[in-house]
Amino acid sequence: MDKRIIYADNAATTKISEKALAAMLPWYTENFGNPSSIYGRARTARRGIEAARETVAKALGAAKPNEIYFTSGGTESDDWAIKGAAALQTTKKHIVISGIEHHAISETAHSLERFGFEVTELPVDSCGLVSVESLEKAMRPDTFLVSIMLANNEIGTIQPIKELCAVAKAHGALFHTDAVQAVGHIPVNVQELGVDMLSLSSHKFHGPQGVGAMYIRSGVRIANLIDGGGQERRRRSGTENVAAIVGMATALEEQTADWSRLPKLEALRDRLIKGLLEIPYTQQTGHPTRRLPTNASVVINGIEGEGIILGLDNCGIQASSGSACTSGSLDPSHVLLGIGLEHAVAHGSLRLSFGEETTEEDIDYIIASTKQVVERLRSMSPVWDSVNNKPLK
Ligand SMILES: *Cc1c(COP(=O)(O)O)cnc(C)c1O
Repeated sequence: MDKRIIYADNAATTKISEKALAAMLPWYTENFGNPSSIYGRARTARRGIEAARETVAKALGAAKPNEIYFTSGGTESDDWAIKGAAALQTTKKHIVISGIEHHAISETAHSLERFGFEVTELPVDSCGLVSVESLEKAMRPDTFLVSIMLANNEIGTIQPIKELCAVAKAHGALFHTDAVQAVGHIPVNVQELGVDMLSLSSHKFHGPQGVGAMYIRSGVRIANLIDGGGQERRRRSGTENVAAIVGMATALEEQTADWSRLPKLEALRDRLIKGLLEIPYTQQTGHPTRRLPTNASVVINGIEGEGIILGLDNCGIQASSGSACTSGSLDPSHVLLGIGLEHAVAHGSLRLSFGEETTEEDIDYIIASTKQVVERLRSMSPVWDSVNNKPLK
């Protein structure tokens, strides 16, 4: 087996596309004017931002470009959606989220508890799906916001957002979705989904890091995020990151222009999952079909996530694990516990988020390498019976 270098951590961040990088440079070298100034160079920068806004609006199927607000990324957009909606409440105090949200949602929602807000976390089933019935039951007269992610960053499960959104609307609440993992990876149309707000992040779809956007449907009122010079139609002040905004729009246009790649990616994903499941005592996490085309995630009994990540790194494969320690905590991720895995099993999690450039040979190399690494780790594991090749009871 020849050693390869395979980046399979695209859910964490992606490589910037050449087109996006090239599109950014002139905004540093030539058109570096402050978009709020009035001479020609500045007006060019303003036009660059507004063209990017149109591109992003079009990619998301938004009715108007001015429903798009540029931010510093997914976390900022998520934080704004929740705190911005909460800040305008006078009597309502209840927020509903799912139990497997990114921390940008869950930590933000819970941070409001000290101001008297209440948060309900909806459970998910063993595939990571939120049920429409559970949302229906959780809605209260004082629920002002529901925020449920479109696709999960660890297990790849895609939620029935349109149906969930309809429930929130029927109860007079706003609906926000964290679509950071979905935008640029599967078709996303804000009008079809019916959402009021949607977060996206450039570096998850081959744009630069540190820039993102929020879609806010016309007529939806939330508090301004940053007060100051009045940029982003007064809602998010501060001189715009012009080059990054243009880079993001370029990457998004590139990623959403043609979806014919999806069947090929899904076939690669299914080949990878099938190969990994040949390892005894391994199970898929997330939904078998309602999942991101480039996400393969499993839990492997008898090993630690860190061990397998380091072992794969030695084979040239960069992957990730939701197991533990990544954030200095000893607990496995709330997502893996949320789908009902026991602690010991969740510790052996492995997420491979490959990319458009990944080949069938790469997939087979990942499978073969994982098998090797797992075998070695199990032979040293105190919880593994190597003689009978099964977990010690
Ligand atoms: C990466 C990610 C975020 C955070 O986005 P940043 O731009 O890195 O702040 C939020 N939600 C999900 C689901 C993500 O995957």
